[in-house]
Formats: sequence, C-alpha cells, structure tokens
Amino acid sequence: MKNYFKTVPTRDGYYGDFGGSFLPPHLQAEMDKITEAYFTISKSHEFISELRSIRKHFQGRPTPVYFCKRLSEKAGSRIYLKREDLNHSGAHKLNHCMGEALLAKYLGKKKLIAETGAGQHGVALATAAAYFGLECEIHMGEVDIAKEHPNVVRMRILGAKVVPVSHGLKTLKEAVDSAFEAYLVDPETSIYCIGSVVGPHPFPMMVRDFQRVVGIEAREQFHEMTGELPDNVVACVGGGSNAAGIFSAFLADEEVKLWGVEPAGISYATGDHACTMKYGTPGVIHGFKCNVLQDEEGNPAPVYSVASGLDYPGVGPEHCMLKANGRVNYSDANDKETIDAFYELSRLEGIIPALESAHAVAFATKLAKDAQRESILINLSGRGDKDLDFVVNTYGLPD
Ligand SMILES: *Cc1c(COP(=O)(O)O)cnc(C)c1O
Repeated sequence: MKNYFKTVPTRDGYYGDFGGSFLPPHLQAEMDKITEAYFTISKSHEFISELRSIRKHFQGRPTPVYFCKRLSEKAGSRIYLKREDLNHSGAHKLNHCMGEALLAKYLGKKKLIAETGAGQHGVALATAAAYFGLECEIHMGEVDIAKEHPNVVRMRILGAKVVPVSHGLKTLKEAVDSAFEAYLVDPETSIYCIGSVVGPHPFPMMVRDFQRVVGIEAREQFHEMTGELPDNVVACVGGGSNAAGIFSAFLADEEVKLWGVEPAGISYATGDHACTMKYGTPGVIHGFKCNVLQDEEGNPAPVYSVASGLDYPGVGPEHCMLKANGRVNYSDANDKETIDAFYELSRLEGIIPALESAHAVAFATKLAKDAQRESILINLSGRGDKDLDFVVNTYGLPD
C-alpha cells in the first residue's frame, strides 16, 4: 500500500488487470490531452486552492461524521455516518462534478456534456456548470425523463439543456451512446464528464481523486471523536465513486475492514439485481475493462435495483482490483432490506437516506449482528428527498 496513489493506476490507467482505455484513435487523442492536463493541473497551487475554496464556501465541506445513538442501541454495534447527504445538492456526486468542471475551465472548454439515468449526475453537473458559467447538455432516455420529472425540472432551472433520447430502450445505455456522439461532434470546445469511477482512463482516477476528500475528512473526524479508527467502513457500490472516496483513506490501515455493498434487487434467479462483483465476468464496457454482467452473447445484461443510481452492469476498475487482491469485501443488500433500512434510519435518527445509501445502512445493520461491539462507519452518500414519492407509492408507510 506504500505510495499507493502514485502507483495505482499505472501510467496507462490499469488497476491490476482492469481499467485501461478502449477507444477509437481520434478519441484516444482527446483522452490523452485530458490526462496530461489533469496531471499538470492537479499539481498546480492555483487549481488546488480554488477547489479547496469551492469545497468550503460553496459545497459546505467538511460534512460531519455523526454517531447514530438510537440505531446503534438497536443494532448492537456503534454505527456512524459520514454525512454526504449534507453536501450541497444532496449527495457526494458534486465532489467530482465540481472537480471536472474546474478542469474544464482550465482547459478552456465551453460546454459540459454527460448522460444521466435517474438524473442525479445531471443535476450535480448542471449545478457545477451554473457555478462556472459553462454550458451544460444532459442526455437522458425518454423513459427516464417521464419517471424522473423533478430532476428534469431541476436541471432546466439550473440552465442545462436536457436532450431526450428516443431510440432503443430509451434509458441509460442509449443516453450514454447519445452523449458520446454529441461529444464526438465537438471534442475541442466540449468535455464529457463521467459520473462515477468508470469509463476510460483517466476518468476512474480523476473521479477517485476528487472523491478522496470524503475519506480524508472522515478518517480524521472519526479519530477525533473516538480516539481510534473504525473497525469497519461500509459504502454502497454502483459505479463505485462514493465507496472509492471513503475507502481511499483507509486502504493502508490493514485492521480496518472495508465493505462495498451492491444491490441484490429482487432475485438473482430472474436477473433482477446488479451484483456486478459477485456475478460479473471480465469484459469491456464503455471504453474500459471491468467485471461486467453479461448476457449469453456477451452484451451488457439488463440490470435492476430499486435504487436507480446503482443499476449499472459494470463497475469501477479499482474495485475489481481491490476485490481480486482481497483488500475490500463486496457484499449486498436486497430491495426489501433496503426499504426497511430507509424507514429505520428515518424514524430512529431523523435522517432520510437516498435509496442507494440505504443499501449501505441495510448491510451495516446485518454486519452489526455478527460484529457486536465493533464500530461501523457508513458513507451516507445522499439524502432521500428524490425517493419519497416512489417509496410511499410503491411500499406504503409502515405503522
Ligand atoms: C449516484 C449515486 C450513487 C452511486 O454511485 P457511486 O458512483 O457508486 O457512488 C450512490 N449514492 C447516491 C446518493 C447517488 O446519487
């Protein structure tokens, strides 16, 4: 683990056998420019101090670490939350969107382009674009536009252009293709902003680096509160950015157990899940190599989770490496456990979590049963406001 961040990934973006960049030559040339610019800028005093100031004054960082007194009493272990739900715009995503937009500004780009599924990445990127006065174009499937109306309205209020995608299944995968095409038309003045630690090099590295602030703060705050390090750190894994952020600060602390939590959905037998680590096999998706849930023909399989931020058939290459070398354990929580945890955290602590984050809470309460008296630090990646109508309409209110 010595010099980890200097040696992982390798120069060409590999994390063990995973990662890299699988792109047509003209796009590769653009990626190489972004990589070079990022290496230069990330060492520049001006860039670092501007990002630091944004985090403090615009995002409201550092976000607190909070001890869950009532949940801990019930669960039998000491449970703490890193409150990314209190980060501006309600989730951890703004951490990397502000970084990507700042990089775009230094590169002299005029426009940020991205896709969005449920709209969370779109809202965070639109927020960053407004801050820097950049144009923002978000590609979104028509099915998702109908389903996620409040986020579409939010993006438009923030000044972003929402481009409806009407081919294929009209969801995330088609939105990625459409956004990529738009970027290809004009790679000189626009930049493609990826929403997690996925995609071709250098994106998994840049997004991880921008999320490291979560782990650095949490490790220090936890130590200050308790005089020790947590026994366990838990985070949900979609693409893996919030997990990469909090895990990064504990990788060298071998006594700290790290747990990534994937969505077990409704059932493995029917394919209604998105447990990429557990059931995926190595393959190339969206320009990089990782574990992929594939159908019999080797195409990305349709995946499912009650939390739309977690239903991705691939996963960040660094997580694939951290599973292969045994440093991180990957487990899961299903829809039912997640909904129970959503209500439990709301009613015991007065904190309504995002459904994505509720997966981590659900797993932590299971872990608490086996790990009595151990401490558990959860990355609470986002707040649940976006999920209220869906949860109540689908599952009803408990007594
Ligand atoms: C998007 C999202 C996630 C999943 O993304 P990762 O890259 O795996 O972190 C998790 N939590 C929230 C609140 C999200 O919006």
